[in-house]
Amino acid sequence: DIQHVLARGAAGVSLRSVTKQYGQFTAVENLFLDIPPGSYCCLLGPSGCGKTTTLRMIAGHETITSGEIHIGDRRVNDLPPAKRNTAMMFQNYALFPHKTIWQNVEFGLRMRKVSADERKQRVGEILDLVGLSHTSDRKPDQLSGGQQQRIALARALVTRPQVLMLDEPLSALDENLRVRMRSELRNIQKQFGLTFIQVTHHVEEAFSLSDQIVVMDHGHIDQVATPSELFDKPASQFVAKFIGDNNIFVGKVVNAVAESDGLETIELEVEGFGRIFSRGHAVPVGQTAACSVRPDLLNIVSEATPPDAMLVNRLTARIVDVELTGYVTRVSMLAEATGQELLYKVRTVEWSRSGLSEGQVVTLGWSAADCVFLPY
Ligand code: ATP
Repeated sequence: DIQHVLARGAAGVSLRSVTKQYGQFTAVENLFLDIPPGSYCCLLGPSGCGKTTTLRMIAGHETITSGEIHIGDRRVNDLPPAKRNTAMMFQNYALFPHKTIWQNVEFGLRMRKVSADERKQRVGEILDLVGLSHTSDRKPDQLSGGQQQRIALARALVTRPQVLMLDEPLSALDENLRVRMRSELRNIQKQFGLTFIQVTHHVEEAFSLSDQIVVMDHGHIDQVATPSELFDKPASQFVAKFIGDNNIFVGKVVNAVAESDGLETIELEVEGFGRIFSRGHAVPVGQTAACSVRPDLLNIVSEATPPDAMLVNRLTARIVDVELTGYVTRVSMLAEATGQELLYKVRTVEWSRSGLSEGQVVTLGWSAADCVFLPY
């Protein structure tokens, strides 16, 4: 039963001021991070931001230059990978093509010199749990993609890890398979209740899998948040741009008014546009800052209606490109005043009904509440 496999339970992971240098080059710097036990955490960021380095340091495949890593209540800095109660699942699953499924799953136990009797019992048990006992004599290429993934998971889980690390496990798959495989990953994580830490540069994947997303950039953590927090309240320009096609305006803070919800309504003087109102925690008046509005939160409004509290922000823009992507239509525009590129996303059915097309000039309106203030 599953309790048996989970003899050690899930463990949380905590990084305290972790830095990694390769010679003069600092790959990650001063990372603080708490990953709760039993959660699914994705390290998300562009190529070279340090996510793989971070994962490898937690697994013990990479030494750390300074700081501390804790897994559960143990400081693991000086422990070799095999003693950390972690396991790793790699890109493409890295199954041995010439070994049987049974031998593939058994491999880690052999490496750990587990007795033949115990190996037999544990491999049998884990194959049962992932529902693939009947495939034990086959070779990996006689399994479907989904089955291969479950075997790769079984091979990692059979060592009874408290934390499973996944290094871009889905990146080699085509889009359809990738979508199916990620719900499978999520199901297995829930079924076992283990801590999963996954590296990905794929925004949608991180959103669909994670309890907690860690956005990294240039060796730093920019934001740690749930998917919905990240979507609604990106904390920096980098995050706002990376997770979506957000429209960002840069200007000077000219006023900030405290509101009852603890946030402030902030007025930015943006060259060419005038005032743009957003919500957040303001930096002092006079400083340069930015604000961001998601493309799906813009509205096309009639020029005749005066700005009201709901859609206090206004600007005019010319439609330059319309791209139908399915249920949603992406409309690229250029702001009349400044030439800044803007993106508007709308339900395709609504767009069709609007009768608008390329070359037309429209007025966009959006509320302060939908516009996130970002420190510069
Ligand atoms: P990717 O998605 O491309 O794998 P990443 O976010 O996982 O990127 P890392 O592999 O963690 O990035 O690398 C972070 C930085 O450290 C990169 O600039 C990389 O070139 C550098 N780096 C990684 N390993 C080494 C090494 N062994 N020696 C020197 N520099 C390294």
